[in-house]
Amino acid sequence: MMTKDRLLAVLERWEPVIGLEIHTELTSTRTKMFCGCPVAFGGEPNTRVCPVCLGLPGALPVPNAYAIEQTVLAGLATGCEIARRSLFHRKQYFYPDMPKDYQISQYDLPFCAGGEVTVEIAGEAASQRKEGGVDEERRVRLTDVGYNARIGITRIHLEEDTGKMVHVGGSEGRLAGATKSLVDFNRAGTPLIELVTEPDIRTPAEARAFAQKLRLIWLTLGISDCNMEEGSMRVDANVSLRRRGESEFGTKTEIKNMNSFKSLHDGLAYEIVRQAEVLESGGRVVQETRHFDAGAKRTSATRSKEEAHDYRYFPEPDMVPFEFDDEFIERVRARLPELPDARKMRFVEEWGLPPHDASVIASDLEMAEFFEAAVNIGGPERAKAVSNVMLNDLSAHLNARGIALSESRIVPSMVVELVELVEAATISSKQAKEVFADMAETGDSPAAIVEIKGMRQVSDTGAIEAVVTRILDENPNKVEEYRAGKTGLIGFFVGQVMREMGGQANPKVVNEVLARMLEG
Ligand code: ADP
Ligand code: ZN
Ligand code: MG
Repeated sequence: MMTKDRLLAVLERWEPVIGLEIHTELTSTRTKMFCGCPVAFGGEPNTRVCPVCLGLPGALPVPNAYAIEQTVLAGLATGCEIARRSLFHRKQYFYPDMPKDYQISQYDLPFCAGGEVTVEIAGEAASQRKEGGVDEERRVRLTDVGYNARIGITRIHLEEDTGKMVHVGGSEGRLAGATKSLVDFNRAGTPLIELVTEPDIRTPAEARAFAQKLRLIWLTLGISDCNMEEGSMRVDANVSLRRRGESEFGTKTEIKNMNSFKSLHDGLAYEIVRQAEVLESGGRVVQETRHFDAGAKRTSATRSKEEAHDYRYFPEPDMVPFEFDDEFIERVRARLPELPDARKMRFVEEWGLPPHDASVIASDLEMAEFFEAAVNIGGPERAKAVSNVMLNDLSAHLNARGIALSESRIVPSMVVELVELVEAATISSKQAKEVFADMAETGDSPAAIVEIKGMRQVSDTGAIEAVVTRILDENPNKVEEYRAGKTGLIGFFVGQVMREMGGQANPKVVNEVLARMLEG
């Protein structure tokens, strides 16, 4: 049986409980968290370092005020309370890519706590949900396609990232078989926020939707580039199972190293099926850390709780606690841009877009900005027509090429021009498809393409009447059948006329003329 079916079968009997821990580098900051070294991806190893981020004795940290503001901004965008008083702690553990042997992090007084983010689950993803759980009030059914789930945010704290290990001499940089391990401290000290969710997530699809929504919010705020492949956004997932209808949590495992939304979803799906098999064969789930291998499609144990660290947290003695007053918090709040949910609402309420269109467009920052620019050029009355082009022709084009919107040759004004050409009946909607393909290829404007290709649509009633007269004369039997009540034949006549006119006739006019002349 395929894993998808196995997952759905398991979900009939077991309810997953999932909580995510998501680390995001604040790549929008110019400098590291506690020193003046630049923040950037990659580069010649160990060139963006100084005594502070190398942890040399006597070096003192100076907190990056901008990174703290960005963390507060993230907290406000996810409905968190901002702490009036907070501080950094030292978290002690030994790892070769952490030069100080402790990480400056936050412990019991994080900058942000107690927020909530709503995710929309639609289509096939919604089929993973079984109703009747013990905390149904967090889920609201939407009209037809799916439901909304409210996911609690436990906290967001700020810390510093570690450096990176590079294992060489083995195969493909993997530890197994490597003969040497090198350390690159360029990343060490990069401002890093960690967001922890409440165990409110119930399906792999909800986990994926949450991570995607969070990425969209962070991108909208501009706090990070959230590049999962480069590791500027990293998701760990905690998951346990309980029998449907039960309220107690089971023992959880934590899956690390999922570097795409697909891995997050699939890693959870495999782990849920694995735990169900353990429990159903009378075993017990062991609390441990597991690694998801996306190639082999399985998780394997890497660290058990018995080896768990005692981090010996204590307040960072080189920094004083922070006191945030209302004025500071309100100043950061004033910087909040329009967030994705509000943007979607505006598309629906002010521009009359159907909720489904608005959801799809607002869930992608590039699409949303493109759409917004197009409607600003063409006017709200063209919002739906612009959305149609974007969700059909444009999306299909991007998928087929495997490119991002910004990498295509299409710009908002081109879509508006195309919509206007159809609206003015200069070209038919069928011809518009052709023009779109052409403009995606060449980057030429739709008007220029119509001109070059001589694609004008014929709306001239006289010209169409002449063709209709000829078609009716050639098909006397069909005309008789139509007049005897077989009105479905209208499609046949329209087809004949269109073929005769090389597809350039305005279908609306053709239909009108035919209906009139067939009536006799
Ligand atoms: P730990 O002490 O092991 O770090 P935490 O209580 O700090 O665990 O929770 C870490 C993450 O695991 C949070 O996202 C939380 O929502 C989630 N979590 C906690 N308990 C469970 C459970 N029984 N099953 C699934 N997830 C859980
Ligand atoms: Zn430095
Ligand atoms: Mg914890």
